[in-house]
Amino acid sequence: MHQKPDGDAMGSALGLYHFLKAIGHDVTVISPTNWADFLDWMPGCAQVIDYDLNREKSAALVKAADWIFCLDFNVLHRTRHFEPVVAAAKGIRILIDHHQQPQVEAFAYGASNTAKSSTCEMVYDFITEAGYDEVLNETIATCLYTGLMTDTGSFRFPSTTASVHRIIAHFKDLGLKHTPIHENIYDNFLENRLRFIGHALLNRLDVLYEYNTAIMSITKADLLKFDIKTGDSEGLVNYLLTIEGIRFGALVIDRDEERKWSFRSKGDFDVNTFARTHFEGGGHKNAAGGRSSESLEQTTEKFKQVIQQYEVQLQ
Ligand code: 5GP
Ligand code: MN
Repeated sequence: MHQKPDGDAMGSALGLYHFLKAIGHDVTVISPTNWADFLDWMPGCAQVIDYDLNREKSAALVKAADWIFCLDFNVLHRTRHFEPVVAAAKGIRILIDHHQQPQVEAFAYGASNTAKSSTCEMVYDFITEAGYDEVLNETIATCLYTGLMTDTGSFRFPSTTASVHRIIAHFKDLGLKHTPIHENIYDNFLENRLRFIGHALLNRLDVLYEYNTAIMSITKADLLKFDIKTGDSEGLVNYLLTIEGIRFGALVIDRDEERKWSFRSKGDFDVNTFARTHFEGGGHKNAAGGRSSESLEQTTEKFKQVIQQYEVQLQ
């Protein structure tokens, strides 16, 4: 899975893990980095290895693996410091992912489909199209539901197809309890995170009405003051699109190693291309990310400069 895995990365990896174990394989899930606490409840999460904390063990496992499933990312550098290990592996790399422009030469086999809501949906397809319907169970459903839910914004984005709803119906037939999943993911934060959001909305939001764009810049001091951890900033960017008429939301956070951008749009404005062109990133048409090694002020200023080229597209 990609670094700082989200619900879809963790859900697809754990869903596939439980499936492959059920049919007799020896499987290990490795995350390139740590992940948000709100994923810890997921079945099998306690067995996931954090590469950053277990480099030798992870490298030995990758070296010995016959098959390496790469889930919810499509360019090896999304695995960060884990990249050289994955790239040097002798085992067969298989891609299952729904982002644009895969690094085709890095994978022996793969399914890459931007029309899919989530990697979890693709793992479901992988299992059922291989004829293993009967292996699906509530545990696998719980893992895969998590990514379907998070990547579709709880079933509201245009990627929420009839197939998505059919899969959920199938999961309900298997005994899936969906309410605890929503609560575990969305209602599991500390007070400081809510106060941080309040602070960010009040003091860090800049609405550029002439471009139908809203931007938010979070400083290192903000992160320290509110004791913000991995996952606490998830969802923050979505608030920007709740302003009437705003079609493009951009959030930049001053992380230790880099300035990390999150981009979201509504309608035709393609943030994947925007992120690739200006901020060394990528993703999907309506949700993408990027990075910068400039200061927070410099990269924010750059954003305000480049947005001017898009005035017409953003009307
Ligand atoms: P988020 O803003 O939630 O971090 O990411 C939004 C989407 O863009 C996710 O699908 C994520 O995988 C992708 N993404 C985030 N950052 C990057 C990046 O630096 N490069 C690429 N290629 N994709 C990214
Ligand atoms: Mn995904």
